[in-house]
Order: sequence, then structure tokens, then C-alpha cells
Amino acid sequence: MQTVNSAFQECDQLVRDFEKVIAKPLIKKSNVYYTGIDLGTAYIVLAVLNENYQPVAGAYRFANVVKDGMIVDYIGAIRIVKELKQELEEKLGTELIFASAALPPGTFTLDSGAIKHVVQGAGFEITKLLDEPTAANAVLKIKNGAIVDIGGGTTGIAILKDGEVIYVADEPTGGTHFSLVIAGAYKLSFDEAEQYKRNPQNHRELIPVLRPVIEKVSSIINRHVQEYSVKEIYLVGGTCCLAGIETIIAKQTKLPTYKPQNPMFVTPLGIALNC
Ligand code: ATP
Repeated sequence: MQTVNSAFQECDQLVRDFEKVIAKPLIKKSNVYYTGIDLGTAYIVLAVLNENYQPVAGAYRFANVVKDGMIVDYIGAIRIVKELKQELEEKLGTELIFASAALPPGTFTLDSGAIKHVVQGAGFEITKLLDEPTAANAVLKIKNGAIVDIGGGTTGIAILKDGEVIYVADEPTGGTHFSLVIAGAYKLSFDEAEQYKRNPQNHRELIPVLRPVIEKVSSIINRHVQEYSVKEIYLVGGTCCLAGIETIIAKQTKLPTYKPQNPMFVTPLGIALNC
């Protein structure tokens, strides 16, 4: 079983560059800026690229405005996107005009209007609305296999054949469930469990506690990939930051499972690349 793929080199470099500009924006003037907005169950992420599609700034905030892939707090979502936009505009000394956003697989007909209105309500001109796996694949550039996006509230599965998404699904199990398991096992509040889970130093200790929920996610993946004779799995999404999750998924699915160095920012960057 391999967990590192040379195909991730470009992706890893892009994510590293993005992490740097989250800490310190690149304020060299660009003719145009492209903003990718990822409205997630756990985080709202804004990724800003310059005219050469290089990351220049980024910001993210823990938020409770989306549930199971659907916006449940419309006003809250607009407020947070607006605040993050302003924060980045002040840092870059320019107005951010163009933005793209994405939706979990399978929710397009239900929620595309709401997402569009959030982006516009925050003061952006929306250039594109796409599905999350397509966004992730703009960074990963996978031709065949399954992209599995384990986020906060949901696990999105997209199957690719010859570079095209041929099947998508979104299931309501994600990192929030992992935190609930930790909260129960360690008698912590949900917020404390979240903090504990996100600390990489705790991952080795947490794996046995989280194994049943990771196996549940693996069985969900299995159910979707079986019919399509998928040969490889590519993991993205914040929950895949958990060290060792890839080994359990590979074992349960019996498929080589790869993940980039930091799976959390792949989708937001892919959204911005599509702007
Ligand atoms: P969704 O895709 O379900 O709408 P989202 O877009 O907010 O949610 P992501 O930002 O991809 O999802 O991931 C958020 C999840 O990743 C949260 O549950 C968070 O606790 C988890 N997470 C973030 N960083 C880490 C880390 N270092 N270790 C483990 N889990 C992490």
C-alpha cells in the first residue's frame, strides 16, 4: 500500500504556497485576483490567487452555517464571507471582485441558488459554481480513480474515468462525527474534542478510538466504488489530515489509497483555480 504519490508534487507545492500566504499575504500587485470560496460544514475558506493563478492570500474560519452540505444559516454565511473578504482586502490593499464557489456532489439542484446568493451577498461577482470533486481535481489532476473528500459533515465521493467525473455521492458522515466519538471517549466538550483531534501529536493515540468510525467511512466508500471497478483512492478534506486514516481506508477497501501532504486546502484551491 502506498500513501504518497508523485502526482501530488504539484498539489503539495500549491498547498504549501497557500499555507505561507495565509500567514503572510503576498502583496505584490496583480491585474486581477481570483477568489475561491469553500463553504463547509466546519470551515469557510477563502483562497485568493493572482493573475498567474498563484496563491497570494487566504483566510479561514470555523463556522456553523452549513449542515450536511446545505446552508442552514444564510445570514451568518454572508456575514462571515464578507468579514473574510474585508480582512483579505485590507491585507492586499485591493478590492476582491471575482469569486467562484463549489457545492458538495449531488446538491446542485437543491442549494446552488443559496450558495450563489451568499457569494453575491458578500459583495463578489460570481464567475463559476462547480462541484467540489471537480474543484479538487483541478489541483490533483487525476485521470482515473475515486476522489474521497472527508470534510466536517459529509464524505463526498467522485469517481473519475479518463479525467471526467462519472459518478458522485455525498454521505452525512465526516469529521464532526470523529469529534463526537472523541468527546464521548475522553469526556470532553465538542470544542475540546475538536482541538484535541486537530493536534497532530494526538493522532497516534486517537487512531484506535477512531477506528470504528473510520471503518464506517470505509464501508461507505466501498459501497460507492465497488460498481465502478475503481483501482485507486485519493483522499482530500480536513478529516484526512488525521495521520493513519489512509492506512485503515486502504485496508478496508483493499485499494491503494493516496493523500497529499495537507488534504485540507485542496478543494478551496481548486475552486479558486476554476474562477
Ligand atoms: P464539508 O465538506 O463536510 O462541508 P468542510 O468543508 O468544513 O465540511 P473540511 O474543511 O474539508 O470540511 O474539513 C473539516 C474537518 O476537518 C473538521 O471536522 C476538522 O475537525 C477536521 N480537521 C481539520 N484539521 C484537522 C487535523 N489536523 N486533524 C484531524 N482533523 C482535522
